[in-house]
Amino acid sequence: MSILLNGGVVVSANERRQLDVRIDGEKIVEMGTNLTVNDSTVENVSGCFLLPGFIDAHTHLELNNGKGSMGTADNFTTGSKAAVAKGTTTVIDMATPNKGSSLKDCLASWDKLAQGNSSCDYTYHMSIIEWNPEIKAEIKEMIDAGITSFKMYMAYDNLRTKDAEIFEAMEEIRNYQGMLGIHCENGDMVNEMIAKFVSEGKLSPHYHPLTRPDSVEAEAVERYLMIAHLADLPVNIVHLSTKRSLEAVGRARARGQKVYVETCPQYLVLDEHLYDAPNFEGAKYVCSPPLRSLEDQETLWSGVINGAVNTISTDHCSFNFEGQKTIGREDFSKIPNGMPGVETRPELIYTYGVTTGKISLERMVALLSEDIAKQFALYPQKGIVQTGSDADIVIWDPETSGVISAATQLQNVDYTPYDGFETQGSARAVYLRGQKVAEAGHVITEKQGNFVFRKIDPMNEGNQST
Ligand SMILES: [Zn+2]
Repeated sequence: MSILLNGGVVVSANERRQLDVRIDGEKIVEMGTNLTVNDSTVENVSGCFLLPGFIDAHTHLELNNGKGSMGTADNFTTGSKAAVAKGTTTVIDMATPNKGSSLKDCLASWDKLAQGNSSCDYTYHMSIIEWNPEIKAEIKEMIDAGITSFKMYMAYDNLRTKDAEIFEAMEEIRNYQGMLGIHCENGDMVNEMIAKFVSEGKLSPHYHPLTRPDSVEAEAVERYLMIAHLADLPVNIVHLSTKRSLEAVGRARARGQKVYVETCPQYLVLDEHLYDAPNFEGAKYVCSPPLRSLEDQETLWSGVINGAVNTISTDHCSFNFEGQKTIGREDFSKIPNGMPGVETRPELIYTYGVTTGKISLERMVALLSEDIAKQFALYPQKGIVQTGSDADIVIWDPETSGVISAATQLQNVDYTPYDGFETQGSARAVYLRGQKVAEAGHVITEKQGNFVFRKIDPMNEGNQST
């Protein structure tokens, strides 16, 4: 039985058009004006925009480092539900192996977390936290298994690799036209500055951003991009947060490099003054890179507007305030890093970007869906409302308004960094591969998510033109 979405305006990164959309099974099968009903079930969506299901290319839905209290507050079940309720139909989660384990084992363990539990479609970036001949040989195996993107770290002692190892990994990834994203912070400098503040008894959340100033990020971005230049690999920078880093990206692009930049809502609508919130509440905002200055925020918005920033994802990594963030009450360096956000991204970007006139709705579609799909080999299966694509469709109602609240959120965490934020616009309904899975912010059909097998198209490099 087919469904006819009648009377809405279909929006892509390039245009908006009033078009009826027919869904049959999991796919969009027909689009046009005044389509005949035939035997389709009609849903009147007039007054709404039809947007491609949003893709969040940076989540940590379920992390458990084996220390019990430090596992994330969300798991795949709760995190994916919060995602799809508000329009995110695909997540690319960070699969992170333990030291000594193979990428294959990590893939199997992430499949175990997601399979049968996820309410949105999913795939993973495979993290490379050590480099040896076995891991090198697994790069191709991962690509053959549909995992075409990788993640490495320049900070965090348990995750980071040496520059030469990053270079070797880049050369191997380049052989298969895979995509690499890196967490850019100078880990040595971070360690040095944490030790300094702790030794001086400076232990409140106020000091967290001071241990990771903009130079610490920008130096790593510059170094990473120089290494990528040597390796001749187009690369992604995850959660870029500062003006200085964006300047480094500008220099790389000027010398002809292809660089993709991701930022996150927290760097666009929150700033560093929150670390001084009373009653230890600054801990709620402890993430890395940290929240930045208003000047950085303004520069990032300029990048979002002019295309220097390519995508917006969330870095969702939720820890409860009570019992988890509070572990660092006497020492900020013990506060688990991360914030929830997979649920709130669409409404935040619509409210702070589109309704303020900073960006068009078309640009929002590019930032949250279409350009992510193109960058990570999901396009055109995902990322666009067109005939032949998966029927992942957000029926976006621009007239609704709401207030973000920890009490009503679906994320399984005891706070939200956006508590009390007023929002405009929301997903009236969400279709995942042709099935209506959410309505008015509530999930009506759970756990329908599938693994998305990605394949690199050697003809288009899997890349958009930037
Ligand atoms: Zn992350």
